[in-house]
Amino acid sequence: MSKLQPARGTRDIYGDDARHMTMVVDTFKRVAASYGFEEMVTPIFEFTEVYKRPLGEASDIVSKEMYSFEDRGGEEITLRPEFTAGVCRAFISNGLQQNLPCRFMSHGPAFRYERPQKGRYRQFHQINAELLGSDAPESDVDMLSLAWRILSELGISDDVVLHFNTLGDVQSRTQYRDALVAYFSKHKDTLSEDSKRRLTTNPLRILDSKDASDKEIVANAPLISGSLTDEARSFFDTVRRGLDVIGIPYHHDERLVRGLDYYTHTAFEFVTSALGAQGTVLAGGRYDGLIEQLGGPVTPGIGWAGGIERLAMLSQAGAAPARSVVMMPMGDAATLKAFALAEGLRRNNFTVTQDRSGNLKKRLNRANKASARFAVVIGDNELENGVVALKDLDTGTQQEISFDRLASAIQESNK
Ligand code: ATP
Ligand code: MG
Repeated sequence: MSKLQPARGTRDIYGDDARHMTMVVDTFKRVAASYGFEEMVTPIFEFTEVYKRPLGEASDIVSKEMYSFEDRGGEEITLRPEFTAGVCRAFISNGLQQNLPCRFMSHGPAFRYERPQKGRYRQFHQINAELLGSDAPESDVDMLSLAWRILSELGISDDVVLHFNTLGDVQSRTQYRDALVAYFSKHKDTLSEDSKRRLTTNPLRILDSKDASDKEIVANAPLISGSLTDEARSFFDTVRRGLDVIGIPYHHDERLVRGLDYYTHTAFEFVTSALGAQGTVLAGGRYDGLIEQLGGPVTPGIGWAGGIERLAMLSQAGAAPARSVVMMPMGDAATLKAFALAEGLRRNNFTVTQDRSGNLKKRLNRANKASARFAVVIGDNELENGVVALKDLDTGTQQEISFDRLASAIQESNK
């Protein structure tokens, strides 16, 4: 029989990988809380419409990446491919428009049917932040500043570049769309089949095409800057000034259009060259029309999502596993006493495990292999005298300690 494997594009996360990912999430939660963000936990699946409508039928996610199925009750269900649509749905469902702005942080798994490779999975994990209810460009600066702070605390801000663009307001986008249709129509014969279709569904998306001959045509396509209204241009300038003041370096990438329908104004990606083709670690933008499109009250929003796996690979930061105290009771009576002593140590914040099998030599070998810090040996003699043998596994020294002094003795030797 072949080895039992997890489903394609999924993986088991443990050891260093798990520690690095936990560090990303912990850093995210700590820093986002300092910007006033509160947790929003939405379901991992939603009605398919929640994603289909805002992301757009022509987006990669909706057209080929969603895990959608009909459940046993005949409902059309989709596993979360991203957080924004679900968080906005929750904002509407719970009538949260009374206290704007709302700042929500979330994290957890997301699902996309993609070709798996390093840094690209079918079940992956994201950290996600959304700011709802502010249409001021200063809020875009706040969101970028939050992202930058997190990347800095993960020690990777020097390894990423902020690519940043504006998609303009609705009027700019309509003008831009017309300019693109006029341009691409002239090259229709050489466009890929996908892009020919996009010409009617969403011409902006052609700019994102990975097709080689599309790319040549795209190279000379008109830029959004030629279609911006004065308002959109001044919005963009305000965001840029904010970035300069905070000291976030950026690259104005006029070719950057994000793959989803709902973006307006600011769009950005933090990109690294250290992870090969999977270089985007955190990305997002403004989506002023999304909540209305989902059937809610007109509410502007801006948000971003970071890929936890990619951030963890880049940062490689993680707390070392705590070095434990191993209880080694010899015999039944000592085993019972060890339960009580272990509880006392854990109340003092020590990490305590029990090893109850094999002779003492075997147990000490196991403890050393596991990089344990101390062994607490309790035999019948010790039990009778109300003491334990405390063995320092780093120095090899051993001392006799009374039950009630165990925690303080460990504290003392651990200095
Ligand atoms: P890409 O261009 O790499 O496909 P995307 O634009 O589809 O990325 P977003 O929807 O913006 O990605 O998601 C935000 C972040 O989530 C990405 O920048 C990336 O770090 C991470 N991410 C997206 N898809 C995957 C995946 N399949 N596996 C691992 N991480 C992913
Ligand atoms: Mg993608």
